[in-house]
Amino acid sequence: MSDFTIREDWLPFCLPDISQAEIDADAEAIRSGWWAKGPKTMEFQQKFAQYVGAKHCIAVNSCTAAQHLSLLTAGIGPGDEVITTPLTFASTANTILHVGATPVFADIDPDTGLIDTEEIEKKITPRTRAVVPVHYSGLACDLDAIGALCDAHGLFLSEDAAHAVETRYKGELIGHHPRGTVCYSFYATKNLACGEGGALITDDDEIAKRAQVLSCHGMSAGAWNRYGKEGSWRYDIEEPGYKYNMFDIQAALALTQLARMEDMQRRRFEAVQVYEEAFRDVPELRLQKTPAYCHHSRHLYVMRIVPERLTISRDAFIEELKARNVGVSVHFIALHTMSAYVKRFGYKPEDFPKAYAFSESEISLPMYSTLGVQNAQYVAQAVLDIVKRYRK
Ligand SMILES: *Cc1c(COP(=O)(O)O)cnc(C)c1O
Repeated sequence: MSDFTIREDWLPFCLPDISQAEIDADAEAIRSGWWAKGPKTMEFQQKFAQYVGAKHCIAVNSCTAAQHLSLLTAGIGPGDEVITTPLTFASTANTILHVGATPVFADIDPDTGLIDTEEIEKKITPRTRAVVPVHYSGLACDLDAIGALCDAHGLFLSEDAAHAVETRYKGELIGHHPRGTVCYSFYATKNLACGEGGALITDDDEIAKRAQVLSCHGMSAGAWNRYGKEGSWRYDIEEPGYKYNMFDIQAALALTQLARMEDMQRRRFEAVQVYEEAFRDVPELRLQKTPAYCHHSRHLYVMRIVPERLTISRDAFIEELKARNVGVSVHFIALHTMSAYVKRFGYKPEDFPKAYAFSESEISLPMYSTLGVQNAQYVAQAVLDIVKRYRK
């Protein structure tokens, strides 16, 4: 271990999993001549709803679009408060601002990075209308506890499941008969990827119908087929909607990836195993805990350094990894420290001390289905080499 040798090529933080099936599926979708929203998008909606075990799936062009539609269809708007976590991607809170409501942050549980249910409870006011928990990194939030809070206070629940394809809560997939809405991302780096894409999942017929209409300009349902022989040129605009729908070239990719989920997840777990074994007894590193109720989708491999035990900062640790040709990332730069949020709400980093400390010590290691055991071993050795050089 002491004779660590730097590899010659750069190991990317993330890569999509491209098999011949994806290439064939998109070639077929292109040749079919139906490039916009059409039969493939319809098929994906049906198959993804069936896969998670929900009544409706509205396929859209991003998770951000799904999150915006969720809040709109739940009737959330100006004067309303929506509770979410500061340890998330911007769209989780940006979309709350887009509907004119106010995002209210609740701090996290430092063992997991998930929003802390007790912190949510403290932030409830008479203006609170919804909670947007994030299944951070692929861990599940405590949905029974959060759901009970929502029931007690009449709050809408919109889950951010961008990391949660394959995540299970008490044995059931996230999205299985949801209380409110569940929003997925199929962005290039996510467990199920189609470049850009997303889905809104719900069991509520009214929400599903309105989200479907709003996702395509506000056109009456079925208007996607207005050029087909069975379709009609006549359509109505029920309300001014958005251009948020998925299209068939995306859907063909998403369908292929859905069919390959089991195999892709198996290979992800092989890499996880390597990291878990290598870092088990390293006091300079703090690993994420998986609550007993949950099956982790392993979208991210989240590692924190223990600053008191090292002579090197987190940022310098990342530079050392880069010098060893390892691409890494940080999930997330705490949202309340971003300038748009500081300007608008006057937040200080210490306002959410646990999320801030987490964000300042976290490093996301390469984690994807094509990473491979050998590359994971290399990453683990690189991390351990840095720990050894800089331990106090
Ligand atoms: C990726 C991500 C999103 C946004 O997904 P898009 O499909 O890019 O809009 C939302 N929330 C979280 C936690 C994410 O990681």
